[in-house]
Amino acid sequence: MAAIFAASAGADTLLLERTRDGGRKILISGGGRCNILPARVDERRFVTDSSPHTLRKILRSWPLAEQIAFFERELHLRLVEEPESAKLFPASNRARDVRDGLLAHAARRGARLHPATRVTGFGPVTAGWRVTREGAEPLDVDAIIVATGGLSVPNTGSDGAGLRMLATLGHVVHPTYAALTPLTAAPAPFVALAGVSLPVTITAGADGRSATATGGFLFTHQGYSGPAVLDVSHIAVRSRAEGGELARLRVRWSGLDAKAWEAALRPEGTRTVGGVLRRELPARLADALAAAADTSPSQPLAQLRKAERQRLVETLVQGELPWNGDEGYRKAEVTGGGISLAEVDPVTLESRRHPGLFICGEVLDAFGPIGGYNFLWAWATGRAAGLGSAGPDADFAVVA
Ligand SMILES: Cc1cc2nc3c(=O)[nH]c(=O)nc-3n(C[C@H](O)[C@H](O)[C@H](O)COP(=O)(O)OP(=O)(O)OC[C@H]3O[C@@H](n4cnc5c(N)ncnc54)[C@H](O)[C@@H]3O)c2cc1C
Repeated sequence: MAAIFAASAGADTLLLERTRDGGRKILISGGGRCNILPARVDERRFVTDSSPHTLRKILRSWPLAEQIAFFERELHLRLVEEPESAKLFPASNRARDVRDGLLAHAARRGARLHPATRVTGFGPVTAGWRVTREGAEPLDVDAIIVATGGLSVPNTGSDGAGLRMLATLGHVVHPTYAALTPLTAAPAPFVALAGVSLPVTITAGADGRSATATGGFLFTHQGYSGPAVLDVSHIAVRSRAEGGELARLRVRWSGLDAKAWEAALRPEGTRTVGGVLRRELPARLADALAAAADTSPSQPLAQLRKAERQRLVETLVQGELPWNGDEGYRKAEVTGGGISLAEVDPVTLESRRHPGLFICGEVLDAFGPIGGYNFLWAWATGRAAGLGSAGPDADFAVVA
């Protein structure tokens, strides 16, 4: 996106890409369908250690409606909303169409792709920037855009090298961490439930930080995944990395609140604990939660003592989920932390330390929840940096 807008604004643009084709995260996104954007945006769901005000300012530079129009009109990709998730996908459901469409558009606008080109460093020289490449002569350019991504899923080409190069040039880097990553528990207390999925509300809380998400929850062989778990995982990951107390995870396992469960579990008739729980929850989970609350699924409600009922209700509406690990960058959909937003001009994304250097995408200290938010950020910042780099004097920009 940065190359498209730099070239569109008239800059002679080279796109230096480490892999043979580029855009590999687009290819694997949304399970190969590419959740290209959210259907609606809640800006409060973005996470940053920089100023949330700056984040919003950057994001609003290319509103969602204009981004949708760009993909539909310029790339001729019709976008379709998946109503149950409020996610947008290309109508073809093929991530490849998005990746190929962007590359073709960049080429139409005049950007030249240099694939299989690993940038090993860049630094200011008298009139612009010198970019060093593996196995090739250095390049001298007027401006450089760094769009090298974060640290997650390194076999896509993004391994944090750009972040390290920007740090070397004196930029403030907020500590990075794996975000939108599955959590693990060893020994796995619910291993028998692997494969069970259901909608829940989950809250993760640790020293002054907390996040709550409602959505799909999946038991895995190692622990827990699904959009709701991924969306709060950064709180858990950070608590672990910081070495303090582990974040506490609390789950409301169904749409029923405490009052509704108390009514459902009142001591009447011949019904059993398991019978009532199974009306609202998958059977295997219902039995496991009854056991976690120290009752038996076969226990008749009429014989449930008050304290037992209270314990059961608490387990159902804010049950503590045991965990002690995470899948880290290997599975993380995004990297939290990164270059502080205070280091860039919020309009052009030019480095405040080095004129002629522009920074966009996941390298910056911001990420959003599952649902197309991270591409929203990547597209908005790519466009801003592309336009910024092609300012009045630049006639040659490079995107690494
Ligand atoms: C499995 C998975 C699924 C995802 N699904 C979605 C989704 O459905 N919706 C959504 O919004 N987000 C999704 N994301 C997140 C999204 O893919 C990223 O937020 C987004 O790709 C970040 O864009 P970027 O351009 O900043 O970085 P990247 O997409 O990581 O691109 C960086 C590029 O820079 C290149 N590069 C890195 N270092 C060098 C170097 N030294 N020299 C030359 N080139 C270099 C890399 O090869 C890569 O092509 C998903 C992520 C993953 C891992």
